[in-house]
Amino acid sequence: MTLKVAIIGAGASGLFAAAMLAKAGANIDVYERNDRAGKKLSITGKGRCNITNMCTPAQVFENVVSNPKFLFSAINSFTPQDTIDYFESLGVPVKVERGRRVFPASDRAQDVVSALVHDAKSSGANIITNTHITAITPAEKGYEVCFNGGSVRYDCVIVATGGASYPATGSTGDGYSFAAALGNKIVTPRAALVPIYLKEDISSLAGLSLKNVTVAISVPGHTEESLFGEMLFMHRGISGPVVLSLSSLCGKMADDNGRFSKACVKIDLKPALDEEKLDKRIIRDLTDGHTKAVKNVLPALMPKSLIPYVLSAAGISADTRACDINSSMRSSLVRAVKNLTFTPVRMGSIDEGIITSGGVDVKEINPSDCMDKKAEGVYFIGEVLDVDALTGGYNLQIAFSTAYICARGIIHKYL
Ligand SMILES: Cc1cc2nc3c(=O)[nH]c(=O)nc-3n(C[C@H](O)[C@H](O)[C@H](O)COP(=O)(O)OP(=O)(O)OC[C@H]3O[C@@H](n4cnc5c(N)ncnc54)[C@H](O)[C@@H]3O)c2cc1C
Repeated sequence: MTLKVAIIGAGASGLFAAAMLAKAGANIDVYERNDRAGKKLSITGKGRCNITNMCTPAQVFENVVSNPKFLFSAINSFTPQDTIDYFESLGVPVKVERGRRVFPASDRAQDVVSALVHDAKSSGANIITNTHITAITPAEKGYEVCFNGGSVRYDCVIVATGGASYPATGSTGDGYSFAAALGNKIVTPRAALVPIYLKEDISSLAGLSLKNVTVAISVPGHTEESLFGEMLFMHRGISGPVVLSLSSLCGKMADDNGRFSKACVKIDLKPALDEEKLDKRIIRDLTDGHTKAVKNVLPALMPKSLIPYVLSAAGISADTRACDINSSMRSSLVRAVKNLTFTPVRMGSIDEGIITSGGVDVKEINPSDCMDKKAEGVYFIGEVLDVDALTGGYNLQIAFSTAYICARGIIHKYL
């Protein structure tokens, strides 16, 4: 008899597992609540889909924030190079950009979705859209997959429902309730790769992007986290690659509601210059413009909109003439440029998170095939698991690698 497998969720991991299992001869039904497959995938990487990172498995682990050890078998079994080879074999050539980020050469995430859907369908998988799965219940043999208006029995069920962030794309955390009903523990889902909101009024900085800065966040009792790169000011908070990655690293500094207490964000606007070199640079600028107001000298050093914040932090009036800045005022200025300080109040909500940290506790999932140790024949893959990584294509790599070992495990066990 043909093995019947239900896959819940036609996202990155579900579609990939569907193609692999259908090719091996299993009877595959992929259930998707949306009217089309791959809705989240189509908006990834700002519509360009950063499918993976051109790096070794060891470098992937360096970028995994939660439970890298659990992913050891998955990432080593299906590596970033395998992902690239797979998409190229489907007729999606790729290109590598800054930070080893891999994108489709066409810059179109939709090409990635179409290739995955085509591979799954042409291999024989059925993709059943507009069908919201409400429960998975143990049956005499296998499991009943329930939806509004009925249920169907399957030998195996793969839960590929994603996390709880960006719920408008269909991932609303349903996989957590399926797992909990089967007796699994859920690690509290939190927003990750999310903006950080500040107490200060920074509306005049909205839209300002800073390159080559170091951003640090600290909370008493926790180790400070800091990263170098590009950040963006929003109306009430900060975002951009460095801040998104920091938000993943500092999740545990916030309470369960994502609120910070006594936290501090420091931006080093000139990380390439130590205090002494920066002081020399400021002396030069002040000397060159000695008759000007200091606010009109500083644009050589930083974007204009930042100047009022830096001068206020240094306790210097904006109209002070350059020639009147004494050495102690200069020291304050140097400190303000290297430690521009803000007060974070909360992380963005889970709706705003690019991914969810937390999810199905990996202690209860077999790391070699993603099967639930508590429910034989049920598998959890992709973001529904308590795994998350920084930006750079690592999260999709996790989705593909966990899908791969799951499909491989089912093929070895049942086919
Ligand atoms: C804006 C944005 C940009 C991103 N960019 C990148 C990027 O460039 N690179 C990267 O590596 N990662 C990126 N990510 C993260 C990446 O998209 C996810 O980690 C990845 O899609 C997870 O794959 P998945 O298969 O686990 O879940 P998803 O791709 O989220 O798929 C889950 C599917 O399950 C369906 N579903 C859920 N519950 C049910 C149910 N009860 N019944 C039926 N169907 C259900 C959903 O509708 C959805 O289609 C981005 C995320 C966002 C939000």
